[in-house]
Amino acid sequence: MTDRSFLAWPFFEDRHRALADALDEWAARTLPPLVDHHDVDGSCRRLVAALGEGGWLDHAAPDLDAGGPDGGNRFDVRALCLVRETLGRHAGLADFAFAMQGLGSGPITLFGTAEQRRRFLAPVRAGTALAAFALSEADAGSDAAALATRAARVPGGYRIDGEKTWISNGGIAGHYVVFARTGEGTKGVSAFVVPADTPGLTIAERIEVIAPHPLATLRFENCVVPEDALLGREGEGFRIAMATLDVFRPTVGAAALGFARRALDEAARRSLTRRMFGATLGDLQITQAQLAEMALDIDASALLVYRAAWAKDRPDLSGVTRITREAAMAKLHATEAAQSVIDKAVQLFGGLGVKSGTPVEELYREIRALRIYEGASEVQKVIIARQLLAGYQEGAS
Ligand SMILES: Cc1cc2nc3c(=O)[nH]c(=O)nc-3n(C[C@H](O)[C@H](O)[C@H](O)COP(=O)(O)OP(=O)(O)OC[C@H]3O[C@@H](n4cnc5c(N)ncnc54)[C@H](O)[C@@H]3O)c2cc1C
Repeated sequence: MTDRSFLAWPFFEDRHRALADALDEWAARTLPPLVDHHDVDGSCRRLVAALGEGGWLDHAAPDLDAGGPDGGNRFDVRALCLVRETLGRHAGLADFAFAMQGLGSGPITLFGTAEQRRRFLAPVRAGTALAAFALSEADAGSDAAALATRAARVPGGYRIDGEKTWISNGGIAGHYVVFARTGEGTKGVSAFVVPADTPGLTIAERIEVIAPHPLATLRFENCVVPEDALLGREGEGFRIAMATLDVFRPTVGAAALGFARRALDEAARRSLTRRMFGATLGDLQITQAQLAEMALDIDASALLVYRAAWAKDRPDLSGVTRITREAAMAKLHATEAAQSVIDKAVQLFGGLGVKSGTPVEELYREIRALRIYEGASEVQKVIIARQLLAGYQEGAS
């Protein structure tokens, strides 16, 4: 049985515990027939519709104008993490569908006008439109500030030219939040909401990856958007991207945590039932050591993920307003540890662990990208070290 003892931790309030229980029950009942890995576009549309109907997208795109589902908070990061962990444990694609509704509309939630929120967030929340976040380019991935897509002022708006790649939901999204250059340096980046049917925006290529997801390269050629497509102020785009990632980075750790818990569930059950050498796999002490390491990794990840989420939600108690260090630690540890936990599960399954379609084989492919996107592990280490050294420098001066 999945370990849910972490829900008693003081990071959570009762509404979080109720959310985790209700979603777990809903996911077990609803998700299996919706996921078809041979039709990821259709699966994502179905998943987003079901998540909208279930009311779960209220957490990804909170209705600020109605006070929000979480007492008027912009985002309840603990709720986001619990949803991602739970969905990740049941079905990776369901987690992806939920996460992209949040990431692809987060800049609008955080920086949009009331009119932008009304127009774009309501369908995202209802699950009738898919959202996407378009920052990366072929020559600007980890070094996102090197982005070259341009947005030139034209009468009544902006003309966007350039290419974005690795864009999740590319090809099926209703809108793209696009980061483009209106000047030089990080202060010369602006954010725009671009509806998918805007003339001049085309899908240049669909990208296949080891764990199938909707992913594409977008091309902008003479793509003119009106003045009110601008999010926030001109030149604020990089800050908007970073503020959005600050909210969603710990949630990547939460998804990894969900994958890892599922791998441990599968491995523990297999260890109890697989007979060998006149006993079970789980009777072997080497297996027990593997399972112990997996459980330890999972608890450490959970502590880091929910510490970051709590710190972001409760600055009054945590004393921090930016969770740069906490989020980086959570993402780094949880994704790396999940890779190791899942690898151990594959090993415990023997040949079945690499058979296409078994849950641990799917998890093995699913986890890999999480160590790369929203800041690769190396980038998280740089962030942690920078913060650490800055603290010592302050202490020394
Ligand atoms: C499945 C998937 C979904 C994605 N979805 C989106 C999306 O929806 N929107 C979006 O905008 N982007 C998205 N991305 C892009 C993603 O954010 C980039 O892939 C990521 O930022 C890395 O950029 P890159 O691929 O260009 O690798 P590079 O920037 O070329 O980095 C390659 C490697 O260099 C190493 N490295 C990087 N920085 C350092 C450093 N400072 N020190 C030492 N080593 C370093 C790391 O090992 C890194 O993996 C997605 C990517 C994937 C794989």
